[in-house]
Amino acid sequence: MTGNRRNIQTELVHAGDPTERVEGAVVLPIFQSATYASGDESLYDEIRYLRLNNSPNHRALHRKLAAVAGGQDAVVTSSGMAAITTTLFALLESGDHFLAQDCLYGGTHSFASEDLPKLGIGCDFVSGNRPETWAAQLTASTRVFYVEAMTNPLLEVADLEAVVEFSRHHGLVSVIDNTFASPVNFRPLELGFDVEVHSATKYLNGHADIVAGCVIGTAETVARIVHKLNHLGGTLDPHACFLLNRGLMTLALRVRQQNANGLGLAEFLHAHPSVQQVNYPGLSDHPQHERASRLFDGCSGVLSFELVGGGAAAEKLLRGLELAIVAPSLGGVETLVSRPALTSHAGVPPETRAALGITDGLVRVAVGIEAIEDLRADFDGALAAVSQVL
Ligand SMILES: *Cc1c(COP(=O)(O)O)cnc(C)c1O
Repeated sequence: MTGNRRNIQTELVHAGDPTERVEGAVVLPIFQSATYASGDESLYDEIRYLRLNNSPNHRALHRKLAAVAGGQDAVVTSSGMAAITTTLFALLESGDHFLAQDCLYGGTHSFASEDLPKLGIGCDFVSGNRPETWAAQLTASTRVFYVEAMTNPLLEVADLEAVVEFSRHHGLVSVIDNTFASPVNFRPLELGFDVEVHSATKYLNGHADIVAGCVIGTAETVARIVHKLNHLGGTLDPHACFLLNRGLMTLALRVRQQNANGLGLAEFLHAHPSVQQVNYPGLSDHPQHERASRLFDGCSGVLSFELVGGGAAAEKLLRGLELAIVAPSLGGVETLVSRPALTSHAGVPPETRAALGITDGLVRVAVGIEAIEDLRADFDGALAAVSQVL
């Protein structure tokens, strides 16, 4: 971390720019070259070749992301899952064990519970809000504690301060998927986390037009992860690097609007008679509202809610929306809605889904940057159509 950091809004625009502008260009051009003339490189990871993530477009992004998150170094990857799987492969080896929060992103959950055990890497899932239960899951070979900033789709906020303290006490590397908060709302490295990963497909790029990921941390840890990434090959294409860099420039503006829209829509739904329950950490009745207010500068744009009429009402609502698009994903400028029981958690048995609180009537909304009055009107109209059938 540098002692003299500029405001994140400024860093998002300027950090990472090459010290000398290429031909005076205000915008860093796309370096569409797979290889570069050799210089005095002595290590494999220093050879200038596109798979090794070191084109000028990569380097600019790495500097920007490190500055924004308060890390020493960063690396971009071909997807969020490439960032997550490469990080875990770099930090764990056969015989190792790690702890993970129980309600993880689906891809991460199955990687941890199905793929890694086949390679001799064990995982135990723990409740993010019950620190008193964590020590019982430790083994002599536990190396990593893996959590998410907010869970999908119920937006629970784990005891992140306890995760940092527990990891330090037991010599574990703490890793957090900060996709749902984004560095505008939460900077986990400042809280003491060792490694921050993102699906840059979501808020960081923000325009739903690329898939990308990133990892941020100390120079030493990022170097370890880069070395693994250079073998696994999850490189981000230079054109996608260019788009991600462009998206990042407006991250602060977009996320602030999404914070306001998320809260505005959550309050509207909370007061609506056809809505039974709203899950959004920015609402004062959310179980971790106090923690979210203390740790986050905003609660981002994802919320979920339960309709009085269950699955049938949820389906009717989705068909009645005109502005919001029924699609998975989040963090883009356009509002998306989905039913987790049919999308992200479709593979989970119905009894387990019910135990997790993911009912058939649950609807997830990922708000965009539209005007709140238009979003409210869209949901108001669709909810009116739902109550007619009840
Ligand atoms: C989308 C997502 C991922 C996976 O990212 P991809 O870019 O789709 O590979 C991981 N974690 C979270 C929290 C996500 O929302």
